[in-house]
Formats: sequence, structure tokens, C-alpha cells
Amino acid sequence: MTTVTLITGDGIGPEIAEAAKRCIDATGVDIKWEMAEAGVDVMARIGTPLPQETIDSVKKNGIGLKAPITTPVGTGFRSINVYLRQELGLYACLRPCKSYKGVRSRYSDIDLVIVRENTEDLYAGIEFEKGKDDTTELINWLNKHSKRQIGSDAGVSIKPISVKGTEKIVRYAFDYARKHGRKKVTSVHKANIMKFSDGLWLEVSRQVAKEYSDIEFEDRIVDNMCMQLVQKPELYDVLVLPNLYGDILSDLCAGLVGGLGVAPGANIGDKGAIFEATHGSAPKYAGQNKVNPCALILSGVLMLEHLGKQAEAKKLENAVAAVIAEGKDVTYDMKSDRNDPTAVGTREMADAIIKKIK
Ligand code: NAD
Repeated sequence: MTTVTLITGDGIGPEIAEAAKRCIDATGVDIKWEMAEAGVDVMARIGTPLPQETIDSVKKNGIGLKAPITTPVGTGFRSINVYLRQELGLYACLRPCKSYKGVRSRYSDIDLVIVRENTEDLYAGIEFEKGKDDTTELINWLNKHSKRQIGSDAGVSIKPISVKGTEKIVRYAFDYARKHGRKKVTSVHKANIMKFSDGLWLEVSRQVAKEYSDIEFEDRIVDNMCMQLVQKPELYDVLVLPNLYGDILSDLCAGLVGGLGVAPGANIGDKGAIFEATHGSAPKYAGQNKVNPCALILSGVLMLEHLGKQAEAKKLENAVAAVIAEGKDVTYDMKSDRNDPTAVGTREMADAIIKKIK
């Protein structure tokens, strides 16, 4: 039996966590769920958005399925998602973007995998607030040592990209490509402008690529990559990106396959992994039994694959694909008219998926 920490999150989190848990259990896999809380709801109750028991549970079990968590913009606590990734060393974020028949999209045959670096870059959380003493000291130092001048009214975010971090993620992308029979890895960057961060990323990508002569390698500047993905996504296979570009292009690629409702994700490290949907906590739909549970259920498919439960993973993915293809027992976002009264709720879509599991 495998013990998995189920972080129920906030907003729509608890509803989709329950749906995903039921669907995963229906495959017959032997999982013991350890329930754990995080987010604004638990913050309101006990004063911290991430209780120590939750961190301890994921550390102990090494595997977590996590529903989304709200990050208040501009104020409040820093992102728990980012904290968990850093605390547990989950350096790789994997986001497969695959077309499923029946999902409304401009494209029909997409099969891309985004591999996003998860711990560095502008996401590292090294930030200096406008007007603070430390910020003034930093700005004075920078103005002394750089040809550029920063105004005293600036806030500053730092973008670290290291050789070690880049080697690790690019190797992960190539190993993933090999293991999954993929043909090509594209490294994405803005090395023409940010020579010492993205330039380093590109240089290290090229070095690592030499160790994998069986996999094709190429690089793309991030703005061009966005246009290419919209115009000819079929040319691409596995994309490896620094943290921020990875975040943005994950949503772009989710859009290519029909939206956040079907975009799963995994955060993987040497000592553990957390599986979660690409989408957020959609607070306006909280508690309404309305949203699409598929992205978290498909994250469960990735989790089952990670646990070596390939048969159960396939069963679950096929069941999700069948329900989406039928287009009957699906949530509002999967109907051609979002106000279609025949749309079902989160729970009912999960029930339909469970019925299809064989
Ligand atoms: P969001 O993904 O929550 O919502 C974006 C849009 O997609 C909204 O219109 C929403 O209603 C819709 N949507 C999202 N999930 C859906 C689903 N399962 N079914 C149907 N429609 C769905 O993004 P946001 O509004 O930018 O963020 C809300 C909060 O979530 C923010 O606090 C943000 O920081 C947080 N967030 C958390 C995670 C995470 O926990 N991993 C990821 C992204 C955003």
C-alpha cells in the first residue's frame, strides 16, 4: 500500500480533491490517503496557511496530490505553492498538454510536454520592496556597480539562474524524453537580452544536450516560441524552460488543448513529488459543485504513472477521455454553450468517469 498526502487546498480545491480521490480509488489501486490542509481557509482558522503537519506529511510520504491554493495578490502570505516546491526540492514541473477528443479547441492533435524549472529565476522569491532600507542599500550598490541607474522609487526582484539548477532540469527533460519515447527537446530562453542568466541557461542546455545524441536538440527565444506554438505546435515535443517562461507557456499550451480544465501537472524532486492541476483555486466558483475536476484527475494519472501503476493510470485516463469524448456528463466549461443547462456538476462528472473505469 502507498500512502499519499491529499492536500485539499481552498476555493474549488476541496471539491475537486474529493472527486479526484474517488476516481483514483475506483481504479482499484491500493492507496491510503492522509488528509492535509493548506490555504486561506486554514489560515483563517489557525493563523498559518501551511500547517507543519502538512509539510511533515508530504515529507514523510514523499507523494502528494494537491488541490489549488489561493495566493492573495500583492499582500498576505507568499505563495505556498512556491514554498512547498522549494522546501521539498521539487525542481521539475512537468505539464503534459494533450488533445482529448471532444474538448473544444482550435487544434486537434497536440501532444506537448512542458518541463519547467521550479526553484530559481524570478520565481525564487528574492524581492526587495520599494522604499525599504535594504532596497535602498541594494539600489545604491547596483547604481555604483552597473552602468544602468535604478530610481530610488523602484521595487527589485532578483533573477538567479545557476549552472547546477539548469543542468538538473535540462537532464530531467532529456531523461523524460528518452523514457517516454520522445524525439526532441527544445530549450527556451531570452539569452539575447539576459546574457548572464538566460545566456547561462542556453550554454548549459547545449552542454547537457551533447550527452543525449539520440534525442534532437534545438533552442528558441521565448517570444518566438510563443508565436511558433500558436502557429505550428505540431513541430514541438518536449520544451524545457526556466521558471517564469515555464509558468506562462504552460497556460499558453493549456489553451492550445482546450483550457485549464484539462491541464494536469506534477512537481518532481529527488525525494518526493506533488501532483496538481495547472489551474488555480477559482474562488468565485468555490462550493458550487460546478467546476471541471479533470485537470486534478489527470494529475492523478501522472501520479499513478510515477508510482509505477501504469495499468491503473491507463484505465483512469481512458475513462476521462471517454467521458469527455461523449460530451454528455461534462461540466459547463466543456459545453459549447457555457450556459447549457445539461452541464453536470463536479461530483456528477466524477461519477460518470468512475462508471467508465474498467
Ligand atoms: P484560476 O486558474 O483559478 O482561474 C482562471 C479561470 O479559469 C477562471 O475563469 C476560472 O473560473 C477558470 N477555471 C479554473 N479552474 C477551472 C476548472 N477546474 N473548471 C472550470 N473552470 C476553471 O486562476 P486565477 O483566477 O488567476 O487564480 C485564482 C487563485 O488561484 C489565485 O490566488 C492564484 O494565485 C491561485 N493559483 C493557485 C495555483 C496552485 O495552487 N497551484 C495555480 C494557479 C493559481
